[in-house]
Order: sequence, then C-alpha cells, then structure tokens
Amino acid sequence: MLSPLGKHHARLEISKDVLRERRTMARIEQRRSQNSPGNFYVDDSCIDCDTCRWMVPTVFHRAGEQSAVHHQPTRESERFQALQALLACPTASIGSLDKPQDIRQVQQSFPTPITANIYHCGYHSAKSFGAASYFIRRPEGNILIDSPRFTPPLVKQLEALGGIHYLYLTHRDDVADHAQFQAHFGCRRILHQADINRDTQGIELPLQGTEPYSLAEDLLIIPVPGHSPGHTVLVYDHQYLFTGDHLAWSAKTNSLTAFRRYCHSWPDQIQSMRQLLQYDFTWILPGHGRRYHADSAILRHELQACIAAMEAVA
Ligand code: SF4
Repeated sequence: MLSPLGKHHARLEISKDVLRERRTMARIEQRRSQNSPGNFYVDDSCIDCDTCRWMVPTVFHRAGEQSAVHHQPTRESERFQALQALLACPTASIGSLDKPQDIRQVQQSFPTPITANIYHCGYHSAKSFGAASYFIRRPEGNILIDSPRFTPPLVKQLEALGGIHYLYLTHRDDVADHAQFQAHFGCRRILHQADINRDTQGIELPLQGTEPYSLAEDLLIIPVPGHSPGHTVLVYDHQYLFTGDHLAWSAKTNSLTAFRRYCHSWPDQIQSMRQLLQYDFTWILPGHGRRYHADSAILRHELQACIAAMEAVA
C-alpha cells in the first residue's frame, strides 16, 4: 500500500472534481473491472484514501492505485460493515446494486464506538482527503476531533450524544466542514495560529507558541510542527493520542510511521516526534493511516523505532 498521503496533491485535484460534481452515490457505469462480481463495487472516482480498506479489510483491498472489492460479504455483519464503509467513503465511490433496506440503521451506527467513550465518526470528507474524525463523549463537554462531512444523519446522532463543546482541529488540512459544525453546535474551535488561514480565521481558540496547552485536566494539546507549521496532537485521559497527520501505524511496514512526502519540515517533525517520548499513551488514533493500541512500554519502543527510521532518511 502506498502512503495515504503519498499522492496528496493528485488527490486534491480529484477531490475538487468530486466536490464540483456533488456526487452522492457510486455509478455502476464507472464500476472498476478489478471488483469481484457481486453486489458491492468501487467505481473509478475512488481517491485511494484507504478508509474502506481499514474499515472492512475482508471486503476491500487495493488494486492498482484505487480500492476494489476483493470478496463480496457473505455474513450479515460483513454486509453491514460494507454499508458503513459505503457511507464513510468521502467520494461516494462505493456502490451497492441492491437498495439496502436497513440503511437508516447503518446511518445510526455512526459514530461507532472504538473504545470506552471514544468514537469513529465515519462520513469522511473529500475536503480533508478522507481523514478520519473522532468524537470523545465526556461529562465536561464532548469533543469532535477534526471535521467529518456535515451531513444530517451524523449531525442528528451527535445531537443525541450531547452535542459538541469543542471542535479540535489537529492541523490545517483536516478542517473540512468546521464552519458548519460551529454554526450548528455553537462549539469552540481550536487550531494553532500557525495553521490558520482565511478559511479558519474565525477560530475561537487559536493556540500560540510551542508549549503544551492544558485544555482541561484530561486534555493536553501538544504542538508538533513538521507536517504543517501549526500541527498539534491531543492526549486525552493520559492514554489516547489523536495524531492527525503527524504519526500513524503503517499496515505495510507494521510499524509507526510519519509521512515524509509533502511534509512541511522533516527536521521539525523529527524533533516533534522526540518530544512525544515524554508522554505515556496506549492508543494512536490518526487522521490518515491505521490506528494502533499497545501497552505504553511497547508503544514507546515503537515510537523510538519510528524516530530512528525518520533520522535515517533525514
Ligand atoms: S473509502 Fe472510498 S475513496 Fe477511500 S479508498 Fe475506499 S472507495 Fe476509495
């Protein structure tokens, strides 16, 4: 698998086309020939964001430079998951020949629980190249991490979960529909000043400088310049590290990885990665790339290996 960010700019162009068309469903006439015969398929508008592959690896894989169905669902749970991927796909590139009768239940399955009070929002946005968005439900106020698509089924579910207190944005690339979420939920958006541009100039809580910022007793924001000048990561409850495009698990190398191509400053990113060694956490929850969960000692070891690999290509 190529890096999900490896074709960042090419995908930007594809995404613009997709956004212009305002696609809402896959097109059978654009079905890729690499799909296995059957109900589910991927069409040629796929931007290779990797989402369907990590969500349902038993059904979707990479064929050429896009996704395809390699195995049609045979179990009910697999069919349901394939429909979740269909809804999560940022470019409506996944199609189902049958009209699913339970699509409302699939819609209501997002945000899907990952662990404890942490959820995957689904409904990835083409504006952020299909980056994953997360939701933390907490008594002191819920947090949306990076922006999914602003779509009525998700908005309704987020309302039912208690709304959004903060919309934390890891960096400038994954802000997607931030303004719509802010207008609807009245949430306070957080983004580092160095990543604020004309689109995000109204951010309510711009972060400054390079020192960690304690948003609450259980929420620590750490500046990690590198991928972008104002990239930050969020540690929640001393366990969960939301990493945006800074750090992810690679299914190809079975190791933690950073995306060098299109990185704003590789030396800065290496230095930022070293800073993370000061903290303990057991989960990596990235925007792009795969999640990782391990004992904190193992995770520290993996992070050290990642830094060594980064330094080797510096
Ligand atoms: S989720 Fe959609 S855009 Fe992303 S890899 Fe799958 S089919 Fe392609």
